[in-house]
Amino acid sequence: MPTRRQFLATVPAIAAAERGRAARGQSQPATSVAQPAAPAWLGSISADIMRLVEASLATSRGWDRLAELCDTFGSRLTGSRNLELAIDWAAEAMRRDGLDRVRLQPTRAPHWVRGDESLELVTPAPSPLVMLGLGGSVGTPGDGITAPLLVVRSFDELNARAAEARGRIVLFDVPFTSYGQTVAYRAIGPSQAARHGAVAALVRSVGPIGLRTPHTGALTYQAGVPQIPAAAIPVEDAQRLSRLLARSVPVTLRLRMAARTLPDADSANVIGEITGRERPEEVVLLGGHFDSWDPAGGASDDGVGCIVTWEAARLMAQLGMRPRRTVRVVLFTNEENGLRGGLAYRDGFAADAGAHVLALESDIGVFEPMRLGFTGNDRARQMMADVVDLLRPIGFPPLGPGGGGADIGPIAQLGQTPTMALSGDASKYFVIHHTPADTVERIDPREVAKAAAGIAAVAWAAAEMETPLPR
Ligand SMILES: [Zn+2]
Repeated sequence: MPTRRQFLATVPAIAAAERGRAARGQSQPATSVAQPAAPAWLGSISADIMRLVEASLATSRGWDRLAELCDTFGSRLTGSRNLELAIDWAAEAMRRDGLDRVRLQPTRAPHWVRGDESLELVTPAPSPLVMLGLGGSVGTPGDGITAPLLVVRSFDELNARAAEARGRIVLFDVPFTSYGQTVAYRAIGPSQAARHGAVAALVRSVGPIGLRTPHTGALTYQAGVPQIPAAAIPVEDAQRLSRLLARSVPVTLRLRMAARTLPDADSANVIGEITGRERPEEVVLLGGHFDSWDPAGGASDDGVGCIVTWEAARLMAQLGMRPRRTVRVVLFTNEENGLRGGLAYRDGFAADAGAHVLALESDIGVFEPMRLGFTGNDRARQMMADVVDLLRPIGFPPLGPGGGGADIGPIAQLGQTPTMALSGDASKYFVIHHTPADTVERIDPREVAKAAAGIAAVAWAAAEMETPLPR
């Protein structure tokens, strides 16, 4: 949550009162956050940014649109009808917003379907367990797989106990440290277990403990190893099974999964623009991914990332503001299980890769405290740091490291384009990431408005500055 001071600074009436005092030459009250003096190179950009920030903080349109998206279409897994309906809805809404050249960029993408699934404890006493199959998993035979359980806490322990894995269901009961570290057990754990003869794999959900929430996500089968069914179970269920084995109680499980992969499906990126008034061929790229996992509407991952980048362009259209360069919003398809949207964008715009002056992605939510991160050379970093300093009164910390995102990665690499990210608090984000709890109730309208304001500010600066951001 923001501090009271940060929150007060986001209330437009208070911000306006502070500007009024400053204009009359009065000193700021002791409780206010002083607006830092802007460097000269920013010129009129500072005032433009202030207009965008005020307009964003004065409305809950971003949150309302996120709720409409999640309520109407629910989850948006690639290949689902929901995703394609949502794509058409977004394009239509962008046109109504007054964005330019709204269009779909078609691509083919993987089509995995979950089907019915369940996990039961057979011995020592029958009871259902909570589970979610991993994306890309194969299914089980119709009557399921019934087998004794082996629990390991690391790949090293699996290798040390390889002989015990044969014919068993292997559970990786690995505590969450960071997503980057722990996700390896979900991604390659199933193939590592299969290498030693396991018949199925379970993974303790990759996230901090929640309310018995299982976290799905993609797995990657390794070549030359049998493909075995794999599912995630909540922390609580993983610990229960571990405790049973620690008491030397033999555990037998039955896993049933009807998961299957169908032929690739049609999908598309949604693209809308504010066409640049002087150098329309130069592009500031903003976006998030529009697909989600299937247990919930993907409000945080990554509905909100799409909404806040889209809002940045919508605000420019609403205010009739047209920067020097083009601001392009892309709602990318298929980030979760294929990245085909990001790859299609790179391939479709390869000839113009070098004309992308900045690319920004929002895909780690907007939970407070949020921040903006940058990856690029020192001169460009200093300029974007100057812009982010303008956002201090609404609670943004100084520009951090770590700009980038999965979807913008391919084009940015090709164009050697500086990249940015808007990231929320990861410790909150990963509690609901890829779970049935990723719903709009978790997200505060003020967080959405603030994130959109921050993105609009850096997008405007990069699109309006006299010469392109140094690279
Ligand atoms: Zn995501």
